[in-house]
Amino acid sequence: MINEIRVYAVPLSAETKYTMSSSNVATPMSTIVEVVDSDGFVGYGEACLASPQFQPAHNDGVRASLAVLAPSILGLDPMQFTVVNAAMNRALTGHAEGKAALDIACWDLAGKRLEQSVVDMLGGAQMDDVLTYHVVGIDAPDAAAATAVRLQEDGITRLQLKAGGRGIHEDIASIHAVAEVLRPGTDLAVDTNRGWSTAEAIQVSNACRDITMSMEQPCATEAELHQVKAQIVHPIIVDESSTGIDAVARMISNGLADGFGLKATRLGGLTAMRAVRDLCMATRTPMSSDDAWGGDIIAAAGVALGATLDPQFSRGAWLAHPYHQTHYDEANGPRIENGFATLPAGGPGLGLVLEAGQFGDPVAVYRT
Ligand SMILES: [Mg+2]
Repeated sequence: MINEIRVYAVPLSAETKYTMSSSNVATPMSTIVEVVDSDGFVGYGEACLASPQFQPAHNDGVRASLAVLAPSILGLDPMQFTVVNAAMNRALTGHAEGKAALDIACWDLAGKRLEQSVVDMLGGAQMDDVLTYHVVGIDAPDAAAATAVRLQEDGITRLQLKAGGRGIHEDIASIHAVAEVLRPGTDLAVDTNRGWSTAEAIQVSNACRDITMSMEQPCATEAELHQVKAQIVHPIIVDESSTGIDAVARMISNGLADGFGLKATRLGGLTAMRAVRDLCMATRTPMSSDDAWGGDIIAAAGVALGATLDPQFSRGAWLAHPYHQTHYDEANGPRIENGFATLPAGGPGLGLVLEAGQFGDPVAVYRT
């Protein structure tokens, strides 16, 4: 049973410029949880949000939510994910990010108890190496095109161009500049992180109608996405509006979503991601396995889930580490090479080797 939960705060400063429609990433404070059971097994989970502007959550809020969530699961069996999630949902409505950190820690701990990898517990890998996608930040057209060239030289075949937060003529110019340097086989998504009005999204789509690309969360709300869906020529990828299993199910069944950008932290952890994965795969809906920001723990969870996707419907995984270069496990943490991330090989659970005390003093401790 869960005996103790320790919470740590770890800064993951963006060393490489990362720009979105609403914000630039500065130094997000990642929340790490260490869940310890009565036999001394330890599991790690993590949640980190790049910036608070484009989503209804922020990093201080994650740690505040744990003051309610952590006591609600003390004494429970960490291997009973359904029971653990039900207890958290009874204790606190919303706050999926704190729930995600604890849920992921339970998966890691259960894997260590069972001597199994989280990938195998999720059903097994359909890919040994997980395709990743990379971001071209908001920039002048020439600079954006130069970044796209460099990333493709590094083996990247999935590009996400950020847009929004400026005049759309600049976005349109950047989209055209990047499209001109795309190699055959490179996939382009234009992600505004909710940044355009419906009129702007429709104008951009019209101005780019000859470019093969998808539009990721072009507008802020699900209602706006419906409004633009009928008037644009490009597929819609839903990211920020995919807030739970119910929302994902609704947007698949009503035809709004041509694909999803999915994040374990926003859905509430690997238990919820597994359900959404099964829903997406059963309906042949492409999805990615990303995170909002974070270090090796959340990256390992994302890559594990990403490896279990049917390759035909995988949009790839996104990891924050190329932007912050902070590693918890230098040897085993997931790293990207030639556009692919390999699964951590450091043992059962998430496959990371983490040591007691490596995150400094806990900011909170909860005990039975
Ligand atoms: Mg996105």
